[in-house]
Amino acid sequence: MDCIFCRIVQKESPAEILYETYNVLAMLDIRPIHFGHALVIPKSHCVDFLTLPEQSFHDIMHATQIVARALVKTFDLEGFNVFSNNGRIAGQSVFHFHLHIVPRYVGDAIRFAPMLKSYTGRSMAENGERIRRNIQP
Ligand SMILES: [Zn+2]
Repeated sequence: MDCIFCRIVQKESPAEILYETYNVLAMLDIRPIHFGHALVIPKSHCVDFLTLPEQSFHDIMHATQIVARALVKTFDLEGFNVFSNNGRIAGQSVFHFHLHIVPRYVGDAIRFAPMLKSYTGRSMAENGERIRRNIQP
């Protein structure tokens, strides 16, 4: 398996590393939406959010909060986005789970959902029922 993020974890590929613990690494995205756009990854390989081991959740989120605080302080941010692309159709390009932390600025015109839909009639309840049937804690 050839994974660029695993190579970065192994220090076999260069990266601008911002923060690192025994199981988590944060680095700058090489193609940033805004400068300072950071990625937080688990050191052990997993493809996406669905395969992220539960024992990694806390450490990933903790590292994301630590790095986000640093971005806010460094760039004097009023806001930022935290997100994860899962699957090629959702924009995932490296198939090793990662969270993005993206600085936001007034007037930057970045929009995640340009066309919001509206539920009508019972469709919200029906969607809720369908999803609840598949909830498997
Ligand atoms: Zn990997």
